[in-house]
Amino acid sequence: MISINSLTVSYTKKRKVINDLSLALEGGNIHGIVGLNGAGKTTLLRTLYGLLKPDSGTITLSGNSISKKQIGYLPTENFFYSNITGSEYLNLFRNRAFEIEKWNKLFGLPLEELIDNYSSGMKKKLALLGVLKLDKPVMILDEPFNGLDIETGRILRSVLLQLKKTGKLIIVTSHILETLTNLCDCIHHIENGIIDITIQKPEFEAYEKQLFAKIENQSEKLISDLGISN
Ligand code: ADP
Repeated sequence: MISINSLTVSYTKKRKVINDLSLALEGGNIHGIVGLNGAGKTTLLRTLYGLLKPDSGTITLSGNSISKKQIGYLPTENFFYSNITGSEYLNLFRNRAFEIEKWNKLFGLPLEELIDNYSSGMKKKLALLGVLKLDKPVMILDEPFNGLDIETGRILRSVLLQLKKTGKLIIVTSHILETLTNLCDCIHHIENGIIDITIQKPEFEAYEKQLFAKIENQSEKLISDLGISN
């Protein structure tokens, strides 16, 4: 279990982006993090991975300080050296047990080609393969479905569900709520740097309806003010 206690993170003195956030994340589960743009999702994930140093608070995994060695992290934007092939990239990650050819049957990447010639979706798949190869007990995936085609998105979902069964703790963000309701065991809603609601699977449908009704109510008048007519 990851325990986050009274976590506060800021980029400038003026504003706390994560504000006294506490959260317990059970292992063997897929956790979704949702929130509006700018709510603090990426900041929270980067802090969990250790890329940002919190102002205060603690993050532990099974009671001990969490370390990068225990985490496979997929950032929203992936960085690749130029002039290397997909295979060369995957060789940067050490794990002899990882059978690249078998995994790539799912992703279908031209691994002997230069990454510079990959499309953005192909780059995302390659970055995912890197994280999968790392095979860490904790996986932090920031928008892993972004840019993937429908088929790969569905395959990734099945892979994550399978990995969850091995006891991994998986944290995923998505700006598409349905992606998370179809995958996660619980969804944590972040607003103004704190988790204000955690929703369990049986409550997903009601939550989704309530949220969409609220958004539609708020936007109805603004849309009608546009005067769009047929
Ligand atoms: P989300 O992932 O939910 O869209 P972020 O964690 O990226 O939100 O951003 C949360 C807030 O922190 C936003 O107001 C954003 O402008 C601010 N922020 C993010 N990155 C930086 C940065 N490098 N420097 C200063 N402010 C930042």
